[in-house]
Amino acid sequence: MNILDGKHVSEKIKLEIADQAAAFLHDAGRKPHLVAILVGNDGGSETYVASKMKNCEKVGFQSSLYRFDTTVSENELLDKVREINADPGVDGLIVQLPLPKHIDPEKVTEAIDPKKDVDGFHPINLGRMVRNLPCYLPATPYGILLMLQAYNIDTAGKHCVVVGRSNIVGMPMSILMARNANPGNCTVTLTHSKTRDLKEQVLQADVIVAAIGKKNFITADMVKPGAVVIDVGINREVSDQTKSGYKLYGDVDFENVAPKSSYITPVPGGVGLMTIVGLLKNTLASARKEIYG
Ligand code: NDP
Repeated sequence: MNILDGKHVSEKIKLEIADQAAAFLHDAGRKPHLVAILVGNDGGSETYVASKMKNCEKVGFQSSLYRFDTTVSENELLDKVREINADPGVDGLIVQLPLPKHIDPEKVTEAIDPKKDVDGFHPINLGRMVRNLPCYLPATPYGILLMLQAYNIDTAGKHCVVVGRSNIVGMPMSILMARNANPGNCTVTLTHSKTRDLKEQVLQADVIVAAIGKKNFITADMVKPGAVVIDVGINREVSDQTKSGYKLYGDVDFENVAPKSSYITPVPGGVGLMTIVGLLKNTLASARKEIYG
């Protein structure tokens, strides 16, 4: 069993990003700039946004955070998105999900200029991804591809079973793993809560991507010996054993699955750190006008 070490890989890639950001500053006279919008004060969202902002500083990006109360109207939020779209000094814009119930996340996602959509959620970027055209890949699937690349894991011809079909993780991951690309070239099965015989499906997998949102959902009896196991889940539980007051668990029963796997990502220290790298790479690509010119 080998650990796919998100800390090691993400730190290495962030050094490369920092070099490229310094070169951009030298040439363009400004830093790559990521703007985040955060509505409300959900604990998970606060942590993710703070970490994104902190990592921007680390690699020499400018970062700005706009906070709104949960009472913000949809129109007010859309106005802010349009204002940031029009600002030539901003390269990337992310709106942290989830949003309060009275705001339609689809409307907000579609309002973001696809050229600044560094989360890769806009239908234009999604459509371009499906067609294998240059685009911003959704940050989490992108981070997973970078992790597979970093460990030279050959996925061609392998059977990949993705568990979970969300727009931000499972669905795009299934498309990326099926593309004629490396990593990719897998035969893919996309499973979800209506899948029959989930255990039988997962047992067929050479590569498992677990993106469900349920602690320890993938158990050792569901895993073929030698499988590559990618655990996307971040499940927070209150704990008096940690400084932060909570503990993170993945969707995979790490303790019992790890000995059966060939490679496995830990939680924390795996996919979460790579997601940030995906976001930073997209922001740099936007600043350098690599995708849309
Ligand atoms: P969603 O809740 O949007 O999607 C969960 C998916 O899991 C759905 O497709 C759902 O099926 C499926 N599912 C739920 N229960 C079952 C079941 N019993 N059997 C099979 N499938 C099931 O979650 P996300 O994709 O947004 O996130 C998944 C996890 O990944 C969460 O823990 C989240 O916190 C984490 N995450 C981590 C990131 C990182 O950077 N590491 C980034 C983003 C998310 P159905 O569609 O039928 O309802």
